[in-house]
Amino acid sequence: MSSYKITVIRGDGIGPEIVDEAIKVLDAVSHSKDFEINYEDALLGGVAYDVTGEPLPKETLEKISNSDAVLFGAIGGEQWDNLPRELRPETGLLKLRKEMGVYANIRPVKVYDELVKASTLKEEVIRGVDLIVVRELIGGIYFGEPKGREGNKAFNTMVYSIPEIERIAHKAFQIAMKRNKRVCSVDKANVLDVSQLWRETVEEVAKEYSEVTLSHMYIDNAAMQLIRNPKQFDVILTGNIFGDILSDEASMLSGSIGLLPSASIGEKQGLYEPIHGSAPDIAGTGIANPIATISSASMMLKYALGEKEASECIDWAIAQALKDGYRTKDMSQYDAKEICSTSEMGSIIANYVGKCKK
Ligand code: NAD
Repeated sequence: MSSYKITVIRGDGIGPEIVDEAIKVLDAVSHSKDFEINYEDALLGGVAYDVTGEPLPKETLEKISNSDAVLFGAIGGEQWDNLPRELRPETGLLKLRKEMGVYANIRPVKVYDELVKASTLKEEVIRGVDLIVVRELIGGIYFGEPKGREGNKAFNTMVYSIPEIERIAHKAFQIAMKRNKRVCSVDKANVLDVSQLWRETVEEVAKEYSEVTLSHMYIDNAAMQLIRNPKQFDVILTGNIFGDILSDEASMLSGSIGLLPSASIGEKQGLYEPIHGSAPDIAGTGIANPIATISSASMMLKYALGEKEASECIDWAIAQALKDGYRTKDMSQYDAKEICSTSEMGSIIANYVGKCKK
């Protein structure tokens, strides 16, 4: 029987509630597919600062280095907002991504048929949307030097090297090869030198993937096209800041931020987390939607552990729960037959997993 070791980072706000449900579903699927997952808890974010004085304790990195993957909830909250920047929860998360070398953030955006009415966009625009944003995660303007303040000025630097662009481009093309073989690279090459290098490098990498059709789009146009006609996209490849904005925009196609998962991967362990934050406004009320985290656990099974059937079973179970009308409060106005709590939704999906025939 295969056995895996997962580092579990619950974090702040709704983090612990949603991660508990993902573990419930993982336990169900590992039981039915006959593999074992051992979990080890680690601290990150505000809770880590409260306990250890640091948002990313060394112990967390040590635990991760001994595991197969990391399942993560979310961090952050008002009570830590006035700390110096290096002690804030968000700094802990940025450092964690950098330390883990997870340079590729993969965000699938799929619109469930049952929830087409949940989007603010017209049904005919979003029915059938199935795209993936591949965002560079540990370079670009969020990390570039120099940065800082000088007198009445403040500055950040957007910098990418050819190897950084190459590795994320390869990731996007490899993903496209398993899908509809289309990559749209998004940049601002009409204005930025760094985007010109991005475009040239992506063109070079594309030569190794002759079956994939490459197109380019400026970020301002891409932001518009994503709303106008999202079905034109298969894989969107882009840098850190453009990807941050585009993927949040893309998340709204699905109707709730509580639905969308992500995988951040590099050469070693990957980090699997929902795209949303710690939602302090609803923490502890039992209404958070756990599907984004459960779906992230499914990505972890597929990408990190190679348990493809188990991953498919979770995806099937989520779709089945939605089809049968189970909704958490954020989706409650759309064809709901039953409104569930966070924990009820986890149990319902875990129950469907047991019925999966894959
Ligand atoms: P957020 O994503 O936490 O919440 C935005 C809105 O969406 C809120 O109204 C919230 O209630 C709702 N929401 C989010 N997830 C939900 C879910 N699963 N089910 C139902 N509703 C959900 O963003 P925010 O309010 O801008 O930030 C709150 C905190 O989270 C901040 O401290 C921020 O820095 C942090 N944050 C963390 C991450 C992360 O850990 N990866 C990402 C973004 C923001």
